[in-house]
Amino acid sequence: MRLLLVEDEPDIRRFLQTSLEEAGYQVGAAADAKTAENLATEGTFDILIVDLGLPDKDGISLILRLRQMGVSAPVLILSARRSVDDRVRGLEQGGDDYLTKPFALAELLARLRNLLKRNRPSGNESTRLRVLDLELDLLRREASRSGQVLQLTPQEFVLLEYLCRNAGRVVTRSMILDMVWGMRIQPDTNVVDVHIYRLRGKVDGKGQQPLIRTLRGVGYVLKDR
Ligand code: CA
Repeated sequence: MRLLLVEDEPDIRRFLQTSLEEAGYQVGAAADAKTAENLATEGTFDILIVDLGLPDKDGISLILRLRQMGVSAPVLILSARRSVDDRVRGLEQGGDDYLTKPFALAELLARLRNLLKRNRPSGNESTRLRVLDLELDLLRREASRSGQVLQLTPQEFVLLEYLCRNAGRVVTRSMILDMVWGMRIQPDTNVVDVHIYRLRGKVDGKGQQPLIRTLRGVGYVLKDR
């Protein structure tokens, strides 16, 4: 899940970025409206968190601008403005939900999940991925193999989801770095190998057919037959 975070207060921005990444989101962070518009031009996002008091533009104007640019992802407004008028205005002018500061992280995460759920087409197909006896429940962020739930970290889930979406195809280390970690990590690190190693330990249990295959010097492939 790609999330665009627009927040000018550095402490809140850093806290949110770290917490959201731990929760499995890929976060693009912007401290002002201009940067947010640039990020929205460069890539697509599944959900947005927008602060209203930004240094260069009001958050509402930013949301309206992003809508004009064709951004249709749900927007959670996160603001210190608590009056009923502010909240109504925010919800009427492009916000899908409104949370006031100070906020509880657990509530923020729950609201994000709700927005994402509401925005998805109904039906089980879109919320589940299945490859052989491996199954991913994308809403509950839960993976299981032969009905046995796997204890994955949020990041391992994101990695496995990426492999599943590309089952039968080779994914390179740099593709994984790009998709799962964004481009903030240098490609010469072994972060991908380490995570694949741990993931394989959980997915390919004893006596089971190994699903995650390494192609030396190339990347990985999740077997689909
Ligand atoms: Ca602010």
